[in-house]
Amino acid sequence: MSLKLKMWRSTRVFVCIVVLSLKASSSTIQLPDCPKIITRAEWQARPTRGRSALPGPVQYVFIHHGASGDCFTPDQCAATVRRYQNYHMDSHKWDDIGYSFLVGEDGNAYEGRGWDRVGAHTLGYNTVGLGFCMIGNFMQRLPNKAALNTLKQLIACGVQNGKIQSNYTLRGHRDMGSTSCPGTTFYNLIQTWPHYT
Ligand SMILES: [Zn+2]
Repeated sequence: MSLKLKMWRSTRVFVCIVVLSLKASSSTIQLPDCPKIITRAEWQARPTRGRSALPGPVQYVFIHHGASGDCFTPDQCAATVRRYQNYHMDSHKWDDIGYSFLVGEDGNAYEGRGWDRVGAHTLGYNTVGLGFCMIGNFMQRLPNKAALNTLKQLIACGVQNGKIQSNYTLRGHRDMGSTSCPGTTFYNLIQTWPHYT
């Protein structure tokens, strides 16, 4: 290969890397009218192994729970999000944490794959929706008010910023597959929310 071609190729690779890192930067995550989102850098995410673009606005909002222990402080919640990521990448061999976003009972939202990447949360529907995971286990109880408010704000901000269709359809994970997710008590609540069908 000629030197010129080599240089052009390496420049092209460099440009791609720059574009990808810009895309992954927090500026694309903190959209206007959104709750504060703890970025991947802030919760110390492992680098992703791949990314495919999710064209928005999406039709579906899927609600999940992590079926894990509770978290009520940013430190606890960040540690739980890291555990989810390890589980998804090491046991499931996925490219990254599966969810688009996560919400903790510390009242914070956590960036998973974000608004613009296809997730691994709702088998068969990952390319048509975003997956929001409530951190904890909500079979027997509801998430606290702070977490519920943040989740609602996050969905509203997705609509405001053209990531979610304004006439979106809200579903629980169990509506789309054989799972108890997002937990019976929480599932009963989301069925009363607008856009649930
Ligand atoms: Zn789920």
